[in-house]
Amino acid sequence: MMETLERIESQLRTSMPAFEWELRKPLIEKILRLKREKNVVVLAHNYQVPEIFYGIADVTGDSLALARESVHRQEADAILFCGVHFMAETAKLFNPEKPVLIADMEAGCSLAESITGEDVRALKAQHPGAPVVTYVNSSAEVKAESDICCTSGNAVAVVESLGADKVIFLPDGFLASYVARQTDVEIVSWKGTCVVHEEFTTEQVAAYRAQYPGLKVLAHPECHPDVQTAADLVGSTAQMSNFVAEQKPGAQVALITECSMSDNLAVAHPHVELVRPCSMCPHMKKITLEKIITCLETFQPQIEIPEEIAVRAKRAVERMLEITAPKKVVSLPVVAAS
Ligand code: SF4
Repeated sequence: MMETLERIESQLRTSMPAFEWELRKPLIEKILRLKREKNVVVLAHNYQVPEIFYGIADVTGDSLALARESVHRQEADAILFCGVHFMAETAKLFNPEKPVLIADMEAGCSLAESITGEDVRALKAQHPGAPVVTYVNSSAEVKAESDICCTSGNAVAVVESLGADKVIFLPDGFLASYVARQTDVEIVSWKGTCVVHEEFTTEQVAAYRAQYPGLKVLAHPECHPDVQTAADLVGSTAQMSNFVAEQKPGAQVALITECSMSDNLAVAHPHVELVRPCSMCPHMKKITLEKIITCLETFQPQIEIPEEIAVRAKRAVERMLEITAPKKVVSLPVVAAS
C-alpha cells in the first residue's frame, strides 16, 4: 500500500499542489482498502479527473478498451465503473451476474439521451433494409435496436464491414458526417450532439495556431465538421493518446476534447507541452472520490438492464468486438489541415 501511495503521489503531484494531495490522500487510501477487501475492479474512462484516473483505477482507456476489459475481468467480484451510465451499462452486458456499480446514476450523456428505442424503430421503418450502426455512446435500449455498435475509433471500419449501400448511423450527427466523408456508403444520420465537443470553434483553433506556431491540433470526431477540417488529426481519445506518446520533447499539441484528457496525458508525457482548450463534461465530473467511497461501502447504485434488452444490446456490442479485434482495428485517416 505504501509503495502504491508513493507511486500515486508522484504522478498526481505533477497535476495538483501539495495541499490538494493531502486532502485527497485519505480518500484514495480508503478507496484502495475498500477495493481490496471487496475484490472490486475499477475501470476509468480517459475523461475522469487525474485523482480517479491515476489514484484508484485498475484499468483506464477509451470506451472500446474498457468494453473489452470488462469482458476479461472475471476474477473480480464486482466492477466499479468511473465514467458515465452508458459505459457502465456496457460492462453490465458482459457481466450480467456481477454487480456493476456507478458512483452516480445521474452521470448521463447528451448523445445517449438524444435518442430512444422508439426513434430507432421509426428510422428503420423509414429506411427498410438499411442496417443500424450505433455509437457506443447510447443506452442499452438503443443498442438493442441496432445491428452493430461502433466507437469513434472504429466507426469507419464498422460501417464498411457491413457491405451495405446505405447505413443508419446513430446518434452523433457530427461523427456521422465524419464517417460519411471517409466512405462511399450512404449515411443516414441522427441529430445527437456531444455538449462538450460541440462547444469548440474554428476561431479557437485559429487563435491557438497563431499563438503557438508549429502546434499540432488533434480533434475528436464529435466536434463540428469545420473544427475537424481545421485539425491536423481527427481521432478517438486512444488515437490522441498514441499521437502524444510519439511526439519529440518540446512538441506542442492541442487536444480538442474534454479537459481531463489533457490533464491525464500531461502526467504521462511531461516531455510534450499540451495546450489545453477546455470544455468539461458535466456528466463525467459527477463521479467524485467521496461518492465512490459511499458506492463501495453500500454496493449501491447498481446497473440493472431488463434481460430481453440486454441480450440484444450485447449482441450489437459483440459484433463490433468481433470485427475490431485488437489486431484488426483500423486507424482513422489523417485529415489534412486547411
Ligand atoms: S463528453 Fe460528450 S459524449 Fe462523452 S459522456 Fe460527456 S456528453 Fe457524452
